[in-house]
Amino acid sequence: MDDLRELYQEIILDHNKNPKNFGDLPEANHQAEGYNPLCGDRVNLYLKLENDKIQDVRFKGSGCAISKAAASVMTTEIKGKTVDEAKQLFKKFQKVITGEVDADAHSAELGKLVVFAGVRQFPVRVKCAALAWHTLLAAFEDERKTVSTE
Ligand code: ZN
Repeated sequence: MDDLRELYQEIILDHNKNPKNFGDLPEANHQAEGYNPLCGDRVNLYLKLENDKIQDVRFKGSGCAISKAAASVMTTEIKGKTVDEAKQLFKKFQKVITGEVDADAHSAELGKLVVFAGVRQFPVRVKCAALAWHTLLAAFEDERKTVSTE
């Protein structure tokens, strides 16, 4: 898996090994499950929303390093943001990982999310990186069903 090794930057490896905000969130009032059948990644996302603001977020899941690291980095970047701010961030993230715009275009807003810009060379991995975000959108709507990247 040489392709993967190229993607594995230090930050991704670190988040995969020591994911942030990993586990249950008993006070969650929104949740969703995401599934990426192309890779077999699963993400369960738990949100505590108050007045349209993400007060707290946790995730659980299993899958490849990209999907897990992407979920971990996402939780660190969205905590404290409003629902709209998180949605805007996803739009920018999606443009960067699909190669629609250069990572530089949004580097300030994206923060650590920018490390996933490399997935643009691997279309299958784009789904892995975006899974947590699709799950987040579902959790905002509180869809208690599995969302799929397909
Ligand atoms: Zn994956």
